[in-house]
Amino acid sequence: MRKLRRIPPPVFLVLAVCGVASCAMSDHDEMLLPIESGVVEMRTEPTRAELDAETQIVVLGTGTPIPDAYRAGPSIAVIHKGEAYLFDVGAGAVRNATHARYKYDMPSLYPTAICCVFLTHLHSDHMLDYSELAYTMWWRRSTMLRAWGPAGLQEITDSMHAMMAPDGRIRSSGTQPVLIDGRYRVDATEIKAGVVFEKNDLRIEAFPVDHGDIKPAFGYRITTDDRTIVISGDTAISATLEDMAAGADILFHEVISDSGLMRTSEAFQAYHQRSHTTATELGKLASRIRPGLMVLYHGLYYGLPESIVIDEVRQEYDGPVVLANDLDAF
Ligand SMILES: [Zn+2]
Ligand SMILES: [Zn+2]
Repeated sequence: MRKLRRIPPPVFLVLAVCGVASCAMSDHDEMLLPIESGVVEMRTEPTRAELDAETQIVVLGTGTPIPDAYRAGPSIAVIHKGEAYLFDVGAGAVRNATHARYKYDMPSLYPTAICCVFLTHLHSDHMLDYSELAYTMWWRRSTMLRAWGPAGLQEITDSMHAMMAPDGRIRSSGTQPVLIDGRYRVDATEIKAGVVFEKNDLRIEAFPVDHGDIKPAFGYRITTDDRTIVISGDTAISATLEDMAAGADILFHEVISDSGLMRTSEAFQAYHQRSHTTATELGKLASRIRPGLMVLYHGLYYGLPESIVIDEVRQEYDGPVVLANDLDAF
C-alpha cells in the first residue's frame, strides 16, 4: 500500500517538475507558479507530461451547507492521465478548480476542460456548482460535460437546460463566436450501485451509503494503475463503505464533531445521528479499515475549533489522519 501524505503546493510542484531525488527543497520559492488571471484556454488534448503523471487528487471544497468564507462546498478532483474527474461540485468548487489549475499546473482543471462529474447524492450543498461547471464559458467548450448521479439527476439537468436556453439563444443568434451550438447541455446518466465508468486503467465504482432520509446516496471507489481512492460522500457509519474502503490508499470521509453535535438542537442531533458520522465513530471505523491515509472533509463543528475532530478521531485511532483544507493536494 502506498504511503500518502498531504503535499504542500511548493513541494508538490518541485516533485512534479524535477522528481523526488534531484531537487533541493530550498528551491521551493523559485518553483512556485504564478496564479494566472482571466486567461482563455482552449485545450485540445492532454500533454505528454499529463499523460505520464501519477494519479493526483486536489480537494476543491471541504465545506458543508453552512456558509464558510474559507471552505467551498464539497468537491474532490481526481486527475488521471490528463482528465479531471470531480466527485461532487459544491458552491465555490469551480472557482477553486481555476485556482488549482494554476497553483498545481493542471490544465485538466480549467473549468471548460473538466470532463466529468460524479454526484454522491442530490443534497444542494454537493451540487450547487453543477450549473456553474456546465455554463462557465460554455461557448468555448469543445467537449460536452458528462455527469453521473442518483435518480433525479436528469430532472435537475433538464431544468438547468431550460434555465440556460435564453442564454444559448442570445449567444448563438448574434455576432458572438460559439464553438458548438448548444454546448451548455450536459450528458447526464442516472446510476445504480456498481461500476459506472471505466477508461483505460481508471475504474469508478458507486456503492450505497446510509445517509438517513436521502436514498440513494453513494460513495465512490476509484481505482487507477497506481492508487485506490475511496470517497464517502455523506453517510452515517456504513458497513458497505467499510468493505469498499478495505485496502484503500486514501479514504476521504465526512465527519461531525461529537462535542459540536451536543451544541445543536435535539431535532438536529437526531437528524445528524441518522445521517452523518461522528468523529469517534469514524475513529473506530478507521481502526478496522486502517487506510493508508484518512482525510477528513465536510466537517461539522458547530462553533468549536475545527481541530476538535482530529482530537476526537484520535481517541479511537492512531493511524495517519488529516483534516483537509480547500486546495490541498495528495
Ligand atoms: Zn452534505
Ligand atoms: Zn447530504
